[in-house]
Parts: sequence; structure tokens; C-alpha cells
Amino acid sequence: MKAFSLFDRTVEAFRCLPGVGPKTAQRMLLHVLERDRLGGQRLIESLADSLKKIRNCNLCRNLTEFEICEICNDERRDQSQLCVVESPADIIAIEQASAFRGVYFVLGGTLSPIDGRGPEEIGVPALISRCRNGISEVIVAVSSTVEGEATSYFLSESLKGLELDVSRIAQGVPRGGELELVDGLTLSHAFEGRKGLE
Ligand SMILES: [Zn+2]
Repeated sequence: MKAFSLFDRTVEAFRCLPGVGPKTAQRMLLHVLERDRLGGQRLIESLADSLKKIRNCNLCRNLTEFEICEICNDERRDQSQLCVVESPADIIAIEQASAFRGVYFVLGGTLSPIDGRGPEEIGVPALISRCRNGISEVIVAVSSTVEGEATSYFLSESLKGLELDVSRIAQGVPRGGELELVDGLTLSHAFEGRKGLE
């Protein structure tokens, strides 16, 4: 059996990153070793620190180093308006577009029985109890994929009976497209044109 050198093993480790194939991984490691050892040191330190400290917010499940994230803690935001998204990447996109000034809830995916993701896995019980605490409007901003549609329907059914307005962002999101890929202006319009869910 061939023994892999430390160099080879490190190249292999870089490949856990999305879009990084063997060539790119090799180029990254060569760059760090030959030109920027200090940058490499900073990278591993902040990566190690992030892995240790960044977790999910107790209220919205967004990624944060605090128990309650900065968005949930921000009194200038509308704490009665809750936007439901699939992932932390969606929050980053919505925040960058300044499309929304309320608070969030991260599902961590869409319903997908085939992949073993049921209501529990996407946090529906946590969402319901979150909605019982001062929330008056829920805006569902999941992608318009088949799973996304099924998820919004399930959420609106689950939230029935609570004193809430439930709406879904308008179809500014391309079919099958993910929210994080949509540009800011389209995203703002999608929020403005949200429609009530029955
Ligand atoms: Zn939060």
C-alpha cells in the first residue's frame, strides 16, 4: 500500500471544501507553503475557533457564537415579524439585500421523506413554540422547488390555529432556484409582493 505524504494528505483535506478538486487543492496548499505561511496560520486558527464556538442560535437556529444571535437580540428590528428560511445562507442573502427588518427561523432544509427529513428534522415543533412568543406575522421564504412548495404548505397547515398572518414571498424566486442565488432587488420585490397562505 502506498504511504501518503503529509503533503498529499493535506491536499486531500482541502477537498472537503465545495468546488475544490485535486488541482485547486494542490494550488491552495502550494500557495500557503511557498508564499503565505502567515495567512495559512490565520486561516487554521480562525477555522478552529469557528468550529469550536459557532453554534445555532437558541431562538432562530442561525449560526452564531452567542446563545442568542445578534439579529434576535436587536431591539431595532421588528420582533413580531418572523421570516422562515431554509439555511443561514438565505439569511445572509436577505440581509445583504436589506429586504427584511424582522427576525428569522432557520429550518435547515426542506421536508424530504426520502432523505429522512420530516417535520422534527426541520424544526417544526421549535418553530411553533417560537411563534407562540410575540410573533404576529410569519413570512415563508423557502425556495420554489417541489420540496419547497410542499414545505410551505405543511408549515401553513401547522401554524393554523395560532393568531398569525402567514404569507409566502412572491414568485420572484426562479423555479427550482435557491434563494441565496437571487439578486437583492428581486428579493426585495419578492418580500413586498408576499401573498397570504390559506
Ligand atoms: Zn437568532
